[in-house]
Amino acid sequence: MKILNFGSLNIDWVYNVDHFVKPGETLSALSVDRFCGGKGLNQSVALSKAGASVFHGGGIGSDGRFLRERLLESKVDVTYVKEFDVPTGNAFIQVDKTGQNCIVLFGGANQEITREYAKEVIKNFQEGDILVLQNEISALNDIVELAYENGLQIVLNPSPMNEKILELDLNKITYFMMNEIEGEAITGSSEPDIILDKMIEKYPESKVVLTLGDKGARYAEGSKRIACGSYEVKAVDTTSAGDTFTGYFIAALAENMEIQKAMDRASKAAALAVSVKGASNSIPLPEEVDACRL
Ligand code: ATP
Repeated sequence: MKILNFGSLNIDWVYNVDHFVKPGETLSALSVDRFCGGKGLNQSVALSKAGASVFHGGGIGSDGRFLRERLLESKVDVTYVKEFDVPTGNAFIQVDKTGQNCIVLFGGANQEITREYAKEVIKNFQEGDILVLQNEISALNDIVELAYENGLQIVLNPSPMNEKILELDLNKITYFMMNEIEGEAITGSSEPDIILDKMIEKYPESKVVLTLGDKGARYAEGSKRIACGSYEVKAVDTTSAGDTFTGYFIAALAENMEIQKAMDRASKAAALAVSVKGASNSIPLPEEVDACRL
């Protein structure tokens, strides 16, 4: 079973500032760092670290070649990462003294994905293979339609949540992997049990994983419901909790692990990621998850 993650590749520029820049002000940053980012990149790294064999589909510009190198270092197959004649997607992030941030996002090459390119990539995958998607690239509707026609299992993490998600043919999604905010946007309810019931009522063929931060996670499939608590850790940085959970859960599915076990493993890996500072570098390896007694 092969996994294709068709998702964003971003350059994150993080400027540490005294305060957020005001209209008309020119502000000197205290320091600047460049990171590999994008939900797509983070989830490919998470999938690969979790032990899955993953192909990344997506776009970069010539300024983003180091992102491809980062994926390669993480043993992600980059055959389907295409270089376009536009800048790489990037985020301009100000972080002030209190740790608050504000972000300007530019889609760049992430928005150059077309139906034609998606077709070229998806034809290399077959029935039963897994496609993972988030909401930071163009042609999502085409990708869902083409993957469905080819019999792929489609995993959708509807993040960041906006109207583009609601315009998709969500009946074609095999697994929704979402948090409470995304669940509320789709169902109109903020109560976990009701979110699950409404999701199954609307999309009876789909399976739903709802993550609830330090309150754990829930699963729904038909009339079946599974609950999983969270592991208790000192939360240092929750940045990659969701991506780690997704990576470990999908990798476990690809190994045909039963759902309860897959959720437990994903929760443990996510708790470990939360206990360490950083984004994709804080995602633990399987041997670290196995060795850790929480
Ligand atoms: P993000 O967008 O910040 O990556 P998310 O909103 O997509 O996260 P969450 O529901 O916050 O996802 O977290 C995913 C999973 O990570 C949870 O289901 C839980 O297993 C684990 N987790 C998150 N926060 C904590 C915490 N403080 N302690 C232990 N486990 C946590």
